[in-house]
Amino acid sequence: MEKIVIIGTGCAGLTAAIYAARSNLSPLVVTGTMPGGLLTTTSTVENFPGFPEGIDGYELMARMQKQALRFGARLFTMQTVESVDLSRRPFTLAIDGESVQTRALIIASGASHRHLGLESEHLLEKKGVTFCATCDGAWPMFRQQPLVVVGGGDSACEEALYLTRFASVVYLVHRRESLRASRIMVERVLQHSQIKPIWSSTVTEILDVKHDKVTGVRLKNAKTGEETTLACAGVFVAIGHVPNTQLFKGIIDMDENGYIIPKKGSATNVPGVFVAGDCSDHVYRQAVTAAGLGCAAAIDAERFLANEGD
Ligand code: NAP
Repeated sequence: MEKIVIIGTGCAGLTAAIYAARSNLSPLVVTGTMPGGLLTTTSTVENFPGFPEGIDGYELMARMQKQALRFGARLFTMQTVESVDLSRRPFTLAIDGESVQTRALIIASGASHRHLGLESEHLLEKKGVTFCATCDGAWPMFRQQPLVVVGGGDSACEEALYLTRFASVVYLVHRRESLRASRIMVERVLQHSQIKPIWSSTVTEILDVKHDKVTGVRLKNAKTGEETTLACAGVFVAIGHVPNTQLFKGIIDMDENGYIIPKKGSATNVPGVFVAGDCSDHVYRQAVTAAGLGCAAAIDAERFLANEGD
């Protein structure tokens, strides 16, 4: 019988693990298939307090994990929660075929990359279509080639800037006429000689499925309806995220986009189940806010268990 299980090892999950471990709850932390979460795929994190020179995203998450382990958190590495029974306490979780019972649960399952939803995007994934410049940008097939980044947020700007190291030119394709990214990122992107924004345009097809590799994109101008083709060797999709909450549909209250709605603090509608990070926060979505929410969830869970006499 576990006192507390934490689902997720992004900033929220690992911070919850540090706090729960320091409260002697010996948390069991299920990493999922992406230990460290999305931040491990980022290059330099410049806005996490305490690192004035910035810190590599992977390194930051490795440090958080080390800190959690130091205080007694236990990791279920590369394991995923397949199903949950939250109808009674202790809760029952099926984790890679194993049944685990727990008195409290923190959901910090994060979010995944949103896809454009094109068939060609799916068929050419890893053949020139990718969702992570830091992971895939250095591939030889992208060197000194024109590349396309889709999106207008901080992620798209970060991807575009990173790719200038390898590409001959980076086209930033955005569906509107202005970027929603933070001002510092917008300035960097718009001032960069290797980044060419293409405004008011959507990608309607990625070419060329017949050749089993990316050779270009078909674009549609949202204002004129005009369709054009742009040659490129890679497409980096950076159009936001969808919360990883499918497992809890119909059990935990969530909004129409699948973000979990906390009731009070980090508590959900199911007593004993708490939530933290990008699976419930669609407003701030920062590493530091996720860490703060993870801390809050661990404190709420600890108080809940103490009140229950557990
Ligand atoms: P985001 O801010 O939600 O931006 C998503 C972008 O993709 C928007 O520009 C959106 O267009 C566009 N988009 C959405 N669906 C689309 C579709 N189907 N087709 C074409 N375009 C589509 O997501 P994000 O950039 O991943 O950032 C998420 C959060 O993480 C933000 O809070 C951001 O500040 C944070 N973040 C911070 C940093 C940093 O500080 N260095 C780095 C990365 C991310 P519209 O603008 O028209 O809606």
